[in-house]
Amino acid sequence: MASTVFERHRPAASVVAHALEHTAHSVFWRDDLPVDLMPDRPPLRGVVDADLVIVGAGYTGLWSALLASERMPGSRIVVVEAQRVGWAASGRNGGFCEASLTHGRENGLARWPDEMPVLERLGMANLDEIEAAQARYGMDFHFERTGQLAPATEPHQLEWLREWRDDEPGDDLVLLDEQAVRREVDSPTYLGGMWEKRSCGMLHPARLAAELARVCEERGVVIFERSRVRDLRTGDGVRVLTDGGQVRAARAVLATNVFPSLLKRNRLMTVPVYDYVLMSEPLDAEQKAAIGWQHRQGIGDMANQFHYYRLTRDDRILFGGYDAVYHYGRKVRAEYEDRRESFERLASHFFTTFPQLEGLRFSHRWAGAIDTSTQFTAFFGTARRGRVAYAAGFTGLGVGSTRFAGEVMLDLLDGVDNERTRLEMVRKRPLPFPPEPAAALGINATRWALDRADHREGRRNLLLKTLDALGLGFDS
Ligand SMILES: Cc1cc2nc3c(=O)[nH]c(=O)nc-3n(C[C@H](O)[C@H](O)[C@H](O)COP(=O)(O)OP(=O)(O)OC[C@H]3O[C@@H](n4cnc5c(N)ncnc54)[C@H](O)[C@@H]3O)c2cc1C
Repeated sequence: MASTVFERHRPAASVVAHALEHTAHSVFWRDDLPVDLMPDRPPLRGVVDADLVIVGAGYTGLWSALLASERMPGSRIVVVEAQRVGWAASGRNGGFCEASLTHGRENGLARWPDEMPVLERLGMANLDEIEAAQARYGMDFHFERTGQLAPATEPHQLEWLREWRDDEPGDDLVLLDEQAVRREVDSPTYLGGMWEKRSCGMLHPARLAAELARVCEERGVVIFERSRVRDLRTGDGVRVLTDGGQVRAARAVLATNVFPSLLKRNRLMTVPVYDYVLMSEPLDAEQKAAIGWQHRQGIGDMANQFHYYRLTRDDRILFGGYDAVYHYGRKVRAEYEDRRESFERLASHFFTTFPQLEGLRFSHRWAGAIDTSTQFTAFFGTARRGRVAYAAGFTGLGVGSTRFAGEVMLDLLDGVDNERTRLEMVRKRPLPFPPEPAAALGINATRWALDRADHREGRRNLLLKTLDALGLGFDS
């Protein structure tokens, strides 16, 4: 089998060992939050009445709360969070905020071809709203509308770039040849690239969650932390119960992402897939000059097993992805977050990408669980006679689309017939994953096949072609 550039041009083992020598197992973004953005909120005690109760204080729950406070001024909105605001995926992601609501254009076109013009317009409007939120609500989450660069690192990917350019007319895309892409970011692995100029922004993930919570509270939303909801009951209204109390509300939003759903019907809809991330120390002027990167784009390379990387405000490089690990039994567990082989592989691929930076160290390493669904993007719905709305399954692309999901869930609770609720993507539920052991067998066979395709000039085997034809698959 052919090798990839990351195997052909490996750095010396000592370079990787040196870079990981003092790396803390801790989420950089959370460590980087000023203390006043992390107030300690009380747990839920006793009985609290509300108009709307939201379970989960990641982006989905917090955008739902903020948007609800605008739609229903003066109403009582309560958020109940099992741990801390933004501690899970929302506080530990790559911070790529994309316009796409469909986990990329290709996935959207394969599933909802007729809806794509609407989905793309709504997605771009959603991204514009997130960018505008900084000024509108007085937030600072380090948003930069840099766009995104997709470098080809193997010759067969150059053909993919040309097909992409031909299929997608418009001013957003700039096709770059080898020299041009290396003028943007100087990696010897780059053979060409595509710069999508407007459809993506970079942000500070933990700041976005913390700022949403702060603004929600300024608008009267009440947030309880360290309060896991154990049960959801419905009668005249909705009750969510924790060990210490309960919220009685007219309606509920479930924004629990990869964690076990409070609705039985959703338990098989997603699987947790672990994604690993390194953060470097800040680059000095010489190191920056050695790689260029003046336009500070987010970068995602083009293989099935892809890396994503970006600069922070203080010029560190976040480098993540490639391994996407599923553990038998669908569990979310802290012990899955420290996986030496994944961090060593990431560090090795980093120095293949930027050999000029040999000697640089990584200050942080961490991982998080991605809520993968079989359609790679969120599904939506209501339960309990329309009183409860849910959205989950964002896979690896929820930073932008969680805001859209908040809008959709509030529409669904209001029974509104509009452009969003008429979308097939919103109305139709994808297939669930099978129970174990079939889930682990299927997912691991698919991962193996995707890795093989990356080693065979992208050629997909029978399993992948069959899954493609069924609209099924596995992604991160
Ligand atoms: C390592 C990593 C990198 C990623 N990179 C990107 C990226 O660059 N761009 C992108 O678009 N997406 C990325 N993603 C995905 C993105 O982070 C998620 O799609 C998004 O944050 C989902 O937000 P959420 O609010 O739905 O979920 P979460 O942030 O997971 O929040 C769910 C919350 O619900 C709470 N909860 C769950 N069950 C209960 C309960 N019973 N009671 C009370 N509370 C409960 C949890 O404690 C949690 O706080 C990445 C994800 C990971 C893990």
